[in-house]
Amino acid sequence: MSLSQRIRDMEESPTLAVTAKAKALKAAGEPVIGFGAGEPDFPTPPHIVEAAQRAAADQVNHRYTPAAGLPALRAAIAEVTAKSSGQSVAPEQVVIANGGKHALYNIFMALLDPGDQVLVPAPYWVSYPEQIRLAGGVPVTLPTTKATNFQTTVEQLEAHRTDRTKALVFVSPSNPTGAVYPADEIAAIGEWAASHGIWVITDEIYRQLVYGDATFASLPGVAPAAAERTIITDGVAKTYAMTGWRVGWAVAPLAIAKGMGKLQSQVTSNVCNVAQVAALAALTGPQDAVEEMRTAFDRRRRYAVDALSAIDGIAVVEPEGAFYVFPSFEGVLGRHIAGRRVDTTLELTEVLLEEAKVAVVPGEAFGSPGYVRLSYALGDDDLAEGIARIAELLTR
Ligand code: PLP
Repeated sequence: MSLSQRIRDMEESPTLAVTAKAKALKAAGEPVIGFGAGEPDFPTPPHIVEAAQRAAADQVNHRYTPAAGLPALRAAIAEVTAKSSGQSVAPEQVVIANGGKHALYNIFMALLDPGDQVLVPAPYWVSYPEQIRLAGGVPVTLPTTKATNFQTTVEQLEAHRTDRTKALVFVSPSNPTGAVYPADEIAAIGEWAASHGIWVITDEIYRQLVYGDATFASLPGVAPAAAERTIITDGVAKTYAMTGWRVGWAVAPLAIAKGMGKLQSQVTSNVCNVAQVAALAALTGPQDAVEEMRTAFDRRRRYAVDALSAIDGIAVVEPEGAFYVFPSFEGVLGRHIAGRRVDTTLELTEVLLEEAKVAVVPGEAFGSPGYVRLSYALGDDDLAEGIARIAELLTR
């Protein structure tokens, strides 16, 4: 075996795997309904696509550009981030990457030394622990449950702090739970981090997708003391239905931003110019489509919560952001479903795919067995049909 230990130790992204399996079954003619993908079903708004078409025809974009990103896009991101975080942001603090996922990889690589511990509340987005390990760090998971609305607390963070704790990964609204922390809790967490010199990596990719009474608060905005050790990551994927365009970014204190730029200059060079121009059009153009999509997600969210709550054995905490619902299926474990005893949510998701042709992601993937993640970023009809199939299978 000549494959490196690093790669052998790594888990494949389970969400991408579920999505790929569902897409392959669909392509083979199976009537699969996919709740697995973390991507909007809407097309990218036309004015963004048109900006990209114009950019593709312009020779300037046929060439290499600065590794950290197009100056106009870095400036636009600095402006948008200053507005959302209440902090002043210079364009030099922005590093544009190949999606938020790549921005996070850059962050961990620029920040961590071997053995540095990073606090990661669970359920967590699947790539955080793998990327931390790739950078030589040690993810320290902090379990949370539906009893605390999937939110960590200063007490829990403090209980896991050691003299090797370098950073905390904070995400609100959260993938996979849809939890949105109240501003005073975020402030308390930010102040705790600042008082111990702990870095915060705050993932704001779902910041525009909040519903009902919930509001988004940016950690450095409500805890200014934490700002000098905070790195914000964000991107266009979720807000503008641009998952395939691959543009995300990190906004960091200058020394870290320079480090990420240096890394990128050796590893990838600039992100595709056409995609960067599209992202610029997204950030600076009309925002009506964002609100239209958010309204549709909210409608689907309420439907999903009601329909899932009505199924015996499923317990739902109402998500307030992103486009996921993360119900507990603990009440159905131990049952026989389609002639098969199901003891874990991992087994349950296999039975759901085989018997009901419904693809969901097991909580095990996010460090929280007993739960299942369903994305409601799919059409209203598929949403209703998919949940009806789950109900039918579980009550068969
Ligand atoms: N952060 C979170 C919490 C996510 O859910 C995702 C995508 O699923 C990302 C970051 C990265 O998104 P992208 O790489 O598509 O910009």
